Amino acid sequence: MALRLYDTMTREKRDFVPRDPKRVTIYVCGPTVYNFAHVGNFRPVVVFDVLFRLLRHAYGEDAVLYAANVTDVDDKINAKAAEEGVPIEVVADRYLAAYNEDAAKLGALAPTFQPRATRTMDAIIAMIAALVRNNAAYAAEGHVLFNTAAYSEYGKLSGRPLEEMIAGARVDVAPYKQNPADFVLWKPSKPGEPVWESPWGPGRPGWHIECSAMIEQTLGLPIDIHGGGIDLVFPHHENERAQGVCATHEPTYAAYWLHNGFLNFGDEKMSKSLGNVALAHDLLGRYPGEAIRWALLVGHYRAPLEWNAELIDQAKRSLDRLYGALRRATDVTPETERPSPAFLAALEDDLGTPAAMAELFALASTLETGSAAEKARAKGQLRGSAALMGFLAADPEEWFQGGIDEALKARIRGLVTARDAARKAKDWPEADRLRAELAALNVEVMDGPTGAIWRIKEQA
Ligand SMILES: [Zn+2]
Repeated sequence: MALRLYDTMTREKRDFVPRDPKRVTIYVCGPTVYNFAHVGNFRPVVVFDVLFRLLRHAYGEDAVLYAANVTDVDDKINAKAAEEGVPIEVVADRYLAAYNEDAAKLGALAPTFQPRATRTMDAIIAMIAALVRNNAAYAAEGHVLFNTAAYSEYGKLSGRPLEEMIAGARVDVAPYKQNPADFVLWKPSKPGEPVWESPWGPGRPGWHIECSAMIEQTLGLPIDIHGGGIDLVFPHHENERAQGVCATHEPTYAAYWLHNGFLNFGDEKMSKSLGNVALAHDLLGRYPGEAIRWALLVGHYRAPLEWNAELIDQAKRSLDRLYGALRRATDVTPETERPSPAFLAALEDDLGTPAAMAELFALASTLETGSAAEKARAKGQLRGSAALMGFLAADPEEWFQGGIDEALKARIRGLVTARDAARKAKDWPEADRLRAELAALNVEVMDGPTGAIWRIKEQA
């Protein structure tokens, strides 16, 4: 295993060396479950699932422990529960179930642990108590705050100078803070909000302490790899690290910090608050989960990814190409079920999924044009490589079942092109006639900024 990973802390690719190859640990920040999740929230799910699979391949399935948490108490959940007049667990359970269902459809293996904040309260309170004992936290007016002055490396992960962080925090400085950058570990609940007893009065934890406590409880500190979206570097991961180090006196919190880039919708940053919502739950009703998984992995995980329907259609076509090659090669007996060396080398280079996918296409080509021996090797390597990445698990025949054959596809493309031309020429009767002809073939046409896209309607 020659795995190299880009570490946000050192800002370079480093050889991955686990503390204990028999117990490799990875933690990824999970969702706040108050609604169906935005597709952008599933990029880390899919990216770190590939890393989880790669680590299992290298160190053995039982040697890798993967924890992904669930935030099940938070202002948005509280608001939703109050709106519906139900306890917060009802809201959290409902959207956690939907989230896990969507993640499974996207081919993500279940994490080893999926801790929930409300069920980690003892560990959270114990960690806050340790921070107070170690003079890294102080109680004030029903709150407990982390004392950023107690940790000389505060700001090292995000690379922010302390003055900048203080300036950022100064906008809204609570009077009980000793330093503007100090952050909340425990706070009083407002009337009507869920509340837990603690040595500092009734209340609830801040968000950052949840993750540190859940890591300590499920995996034990320090861990090998900590992952999440790039927006979590500051303040969330900076604060997690400060808490973990100061509570345990263990200088390493996570040996490697990995962060994935955003999905972009047009020019706007992916965000639930922007209103350009693309819910994975809705997309999964329109496209195979495997195609959405492919689309999420088509770019390198650290780079932003332009997200649109065309990308998913392209992903579907890529999978059609690979499944098609396997379908035409049913008479070839695979020589191996191992991934190809080139495929492994691509993933081992900081999860180079674009190069790994290119290798899948190269193997599919060899499967179609190689000698008998080359075909036997290519078929096995194609299946083995794709499986490692979570692809081509379906029977090729089934993939195309309920779909359409190449001749029909060609006919549909012709009709769509003709309809586009009619619309450009403002020949509306002809455009409508072609749309009706497509509808008769059970094809739905959607006009987008980059031209028309189409899909076969799901059969009832
Ligand atoms: Zn977290």
